[in-house]
Amino acid sequence: MKYVGAHVSIAGGVFNAPLNAQKIGAKAFAIFTKNQRQWNAKPLDKESIEKFKQNLNEVEIEPKHILPHDSYLINLGHPDSLKREKSLNAFIDEVQRCEQLGLDKLNFHPGSHLKLIGEQECLDLIVESMNKTLEITKDVILVIENTAGQGSNLGYKFEHLGYLINNSIDKDRVGVCIDTCHAFTSGYDLRDYEAYTKTWDKFEEIVGFKYLKGMHLNDSKPDLGSRVDRHESIGVGKIGLEAFKYIMNDKRMDDIPLILETIDDTIWEQEIKLLYSLID
Ligand SMILES: [Zn+2]
Ligand SMILES: [Zn+2]
Repeated sequence: MKYVGAHVSIAGGVFNAPLNAQKIGAKAFAIFTKNQRQWNAKPLDKESIEKFKQNLNEVEIEPKHILPHDSYLINLGHPDSLKREKSLNAFIDEVQRCEQLGLDKLNFHPGSHLKLIGEQECLDLIVESMNKTLEITKDVILVIENTAGQGSNLGYKFEHLGYLINNSIDKDRVGVCIDTCHAFTSGYDLRDYEAYTKTWDKFEEIVGFKYLKGMHLNDSKPDLGSRVDRHESIGVGKIGLEAFKYIMNDKRMDDIPLILETIDDTIWEQEIKLLYSLID
């Protein structure tokens, strides 16, 4: 069974997210648990948490089909130790917010070396930040997202994801989210069945499907391997509809949140319907 949704708004309170998901016919959703462009947020109050859980119950979406996304400000591999610590503290706070909401995953971008240190050094700093987080939090799975590799962002190779997993102190609490646009623009083709099979065989070999905890379903404006991160609506970008048909019929993507982050949120309801219509 497939659980498709979108990254919905929390305007007015995090408890509005389940209702926003329901409005577009989503069976899964992503959220920010706070304003993603600010470092600080006031703690979640008891009432908001209760209301969130109530609404979730009402719309019949299970916590495991929710994929919270961390703030864009966070860089767990920041070369500057003070700035890295600021990121780590914000990240830990976000993990704890997920715990409070009864959610079991937090999706994040690995980090950027900012051209100040090498890739390997940066990957080791990210591992260190992840492990510190795993030590002092419980339950929540840290879900690493693959990136387009724009600028100095790491995570554009399956090897990066594999390295972070292999060096983490608790492999039961790490996972990955594969964004189709990021995969495509970082050089992993999905457009025909042969390419699709080859990409996922590589994924299984280097990362492993047991770590796949969610996906972002986005078509791509830029070309294969361009390393530019610009999403497009499903079926009208450079990836095309065929790849999404393979995904919707691929059992390996069952029972995980499949989240739209496509550019036109006014057609999310149609896009969700379109994706379900692709199932044979
Ligand atoms: Zn994404
Ligand atoms: Zn993106």
